[in-house]
Amino acid sequence: METKQFKAESKRLLEMMIHSIYTHKEIFLRELISNASDAMDKIYYKALTDETITFDKDAYKITIQPNPKTRQLILRDTGIGMTKEELEENLGTIAKSGSLAFKAENESQDGHDIIGQFGVGFYSAFMVADTVTVVTKPFGSDVAYKWESHGVDGHTIEEVEKETVGTDITLHIKANEDEENYDEYLEPHRLRSIVKKYSDFIRYPIEMEETEQRPVDGSDETETVTVMKTVNSMVPIWRKNKRELTDEDYRNFYQEKRYGFDAPIKHIHISADGAVRYQSILFIPEQPSFDYYSKEFEKGLELYANGVLIMEKCSDLLPDHFSFVKGMVDSEDLSLNISREMLQHDRQLKLIAKNIQSKIKTQLEALLRDDREKYETFYQAFGRQLKFGIYNDYGMQKDTVKDLVLFHSAKEKKLVTLAEYVAAMPEDQKYIYYASGESTDRLDKLPQSELVKDKGFDILYFTEEIDEFAIQMLLNYDGKEFKSVTSSDLGIEQTDQAETTETQVEMFNAMQDVLAGQVKEVKASTRLKSHPVCFATDGAVSIEMEKILKSMPN
Ligand code: ADP
Ligand code: MG
Repeated sequence: METKQFKAESKRLLEMMIHSIYTHKEIFLRELISNASDAMDKIYYKALTDETITFDKDAYKITIQPNPKTRQLILRDTGIGMTKEELEENLGTIAKSGSLAFKAENESQDGHDIIGQFGVGFYSAFMVADTVTVVTKPFGSDVAYKWESHGVDGHTIEEVEKETVGTDITLHIKANEDEENYDEYLEPHRLRSIVKKYSDFIRYPIEMEETEQRPVDGSDETETVTVMKTVNSMVPIWRKNKRELTDEDYRNFYQEKRYGFDAPIKHIHISADGAVRYQSILFIPEQPSFDYYSKEFEKGLELYANGVLIMEKCSDLLPDHFSFVKGMVDSEDLSLNISREMLQHDRQLKLIAKNIQSKIKTQLEALLRDDREKYETFYQAFGRQLKFGIYNDYGMQKDTVKDLVLFHSAKEKKLVTLAEYVAAMPEDQKYIYYASGESTDRLDKLPQSELVKDKGFDILYFTEEIDEFAIQMLLNYDGKEFKSVTSSDLGIEQTDQAETTETQVEMFNAMQDVLAGQVKEVKASTRLKSHPVCFATDGAVSIEMEKILKSMPN
C-alpha cells in the first residue's frame, strides 16, 4: 500500500489563510512591529538570568524607512536576530512560532509580554509585498544571513555581512493593480498613522525620518534637515497609575481617540489583576453621537492584546443597555491573532465583559447618588437606551438596570427612581401606578388618574413609547407590581360605591349598543371626580400601549 501526500496549491493556501485572518492589509505593519518588539524582549529576558548580558534600554528601537523610488519599505530592529536554523524553522514553516517555543522554554520567568505565538503574522507581509528580504544577525554570533522569498514558492538563504545584531526586513511593495493601490504603504504620513493606530503602545521607540525647518546659525535663513522622530507614545495611559493622572489626561485621551466630540461625564479606570488580568478605561459620554439612536450605530470597545490593537469595536464587551459607553480594554491574556469567531467563545473575554458591566453599573449608581444633576444630564441622553436594554433582552438584565431608570413623578414634579417611588408609598398603596401619554402636561389632566391622586398616591408619567414596554419586562419593583391608571381594577378600596339606578342601566345598555364592537362594557365609575367619562382597560395592555402596538407594522 502506498501513502500519498495531499497536494495543495501553496500560494493559494497562503493567500486564503492570510485573508481569513486579516481583514485589513494595513495590519502587516502591526505584525512586523510586534515581531521586532518580541525580538527585543527576548534579549531583555535573557539579560534577566544571564549576568554577562546587559540590557541597555536605549539601544533598543525599531526604525521604519520607506523609499517610494525603489518601492522599498525597510523595518529595522535591534532584537535577538535569527540563526540560520531559526530562519529555516520560523520563516520557512508556516504556523511555526519561534516566540511560542521561546515562551515555553522560559516559562519560569515572566515571558508573557511576548506577543507572537501563532507563527503566521510574518506572512501577512505578502499581502502588500511581492518580495520580502530578511537580513539578520543573531545575538552572540558573527555571521549574518539573508533570507529572501517571492511568496510561498520557496526561499533562499545565504551568508551576508551585517554589522550589528538584529534584523532588517525589506518589503518590495507590490505595484498597483486595477483595484488595489499599494502606494499608501510607501507614504510616511500613512505609515505613521498605521503605527499610531495599532502599535502606539509598543514599549520600544518606533522611529521614522521627518524633515524639519531649522534656523541656520548666525543668519535669518532656515534649512531643511531630516531628523529621526519617535512615532509611538510607548506607555499607554491605562498602564499608568490612576493617582498620577488628572481629569484632563483622561479628557485628552478621549479626544485623541476620537471617542466623541463632547467631554465625557465620567471616566472609569480599571486595573484588574484577579481571575482575568486586564486594564480598561471607559467613558460615559455626555451626548449621544449623531448616529447613536440609528441602525447604523455600532456599539463596542477597542480591544488590545498586550498593548497591540486587535479590534476597533468589540461588541461582545458591552451589553445593549450600556452601548453608549466608549473606551478600551487591554488584556495580556488574549492573543494577537485571535479571530472574531474565536473571540465570541473566549472565556477570558466573557469574564472581562461581565466584570466591566458590573463596574459601569456601580459607577452609574454612584453618580446617581452623589451628583444627581450630572446623572440627569446623562439620563436625558441615554435613559432611553437603558430602557431599550431591559426590553431587548426580555428582562434578563433587569437587575442591572432597574435602579438606574428614572420617571417623572406626578406628585414630586421631577424625575424619581423606582426606589424613591416605592419608599414614598403610603401603607395602603398596593401598586406602582403609571400613566402613559404624550407629555407630562397632558397626563396631568388625565381623567382616569383622579381617584389615584385623590388617595394621595403618586403616579409615574411615561412619556416615551419604550417606557411601558420596559416596565412590562421588569414585572415588579421590590415586590410591587406596576399598574396603569387606565386599568379597570386599580386595587383601591372603594368606600362610596356608586349605586346604579334602573334608568342608568338602560342608558348604559343603549350606549353599549351604539358602541358595539368598540367597547366591551359601559358602567358607572368611582374613579371620576371632575370628568364625566373615561376609558378603562382590562389586563396588562394599557390604552397607550394598544395604540403603539396597533401602529407597528406586523
Ligand atoms: P509569531 O510572531 O506568532 O510567532 P510570526 O509569523 O509573526 O509568528 O513570526 C514567526 C517567528 O519568526 C517568530 O516567532 C520569531 O521566532 C521569528 N521572527 C519573526 N520576525 C522576527 C524578528 N524581527 N526578529 C527575530 N525573530 C523574528
Ligand atoms: Mg508575530
